[in-house]
Amino acid sequence: MTDQPEDVTASPEGGIPAPEVPPTPADMPPYVSAVPGRGALASFFAPIAGFGVSFGNMFRPSVTEQYPREPANVKPRFHGRHQLNRHPDGLEKCIGCELCAWACPADAIYVEAADNTPEEQYSPGERYGRVYQINYLRCILCGYCIEACPTRALTMTNDFELAGPTRAGLIWEKQDLLAGLSEGMLTPPHPMVEGTTDVDYYRGEVTGATDAQRDWVREHRPDDPSLDGTPEGLAAAVPVGETRAAQQKITAAARREGGAR
Ligand code: SF4
Ligand code: SF4
Repeated sequence: MTDQPEDVTASPEGGIPAPEVPPTPADMPPYVSAVPGRGALASFFAPIAGFGVSFGNMFRPSVTEQYPREPANVKPRFHGRHQLNRHPDGLEKCIGCELCAWACPADAIYVEAADNTPEEQYSPGERYGRVYQINYLRCILCGYCIEACPTRALTMTNDFELAGPTRAGLIWEKQDLLAGLSEGMLTPPHPMVEGTTDVDYYRGEVTGATDAQRDWVREHRPDDPSLDGTPEGLAAAVPVGETRAAQQKITAAARREGGAR
């Protein structure tokens, strides 16, 4: 006959012991609120006390924004529509590296780079952004793309009026996003400032277009409006993109409809 192992679950009387019964709410101590109770007078006025807040605010100055009758008061660091910036001589800051597109959580940016050549130099260095698109149906204006941009080519403006005539009309192309020309700039393509490298541009050592750059543009594009350097010429040299022009038209009409003066 073999030895049997001892049954550890067995009670001294034999059999399986009954499980412990959990406590019921009746066994718990009564709830005591930590909030002090109201007096009789406070309890009497409690139902109408909320009106005190309304009356208190009736005589304060109104803070209602009058948009679109008046321009909206946007905070200076508000992240709105993007802008592709330029160096002081007019060359584009975008080098087509696609870091902004990789950083975008909404997959809203599409970039295609191309090589700069002596005849077609759009940015300092080897490459420039030939195709640049932002899809504002996807963009959530988070700003990750501008953080990722190594050249500060991409920044965000205060413009929040992003309207388009169609779904496709909310895909902004490079021409819609590029900043206009400022004083001292020339329309690309044109060579870099003589004797400089792309590093000089990034260090801010280029302060405007030189005579040699003007001569080059005069030789290759004698009718370029940016050559005269006037505000009208600079504006005419970089016409507003088709999508941006449509947005400006739509928002201007909406503002007028809303009573804009
Ligand atoms: S703001 Fe955000 S969502 Fe919009 S393009 Fe940049 S990274 Fe993408
Ligand atoms: S905007 Fe900046 S991050 Fe995007 S492709 Fe151009 S240089 Fe690169």
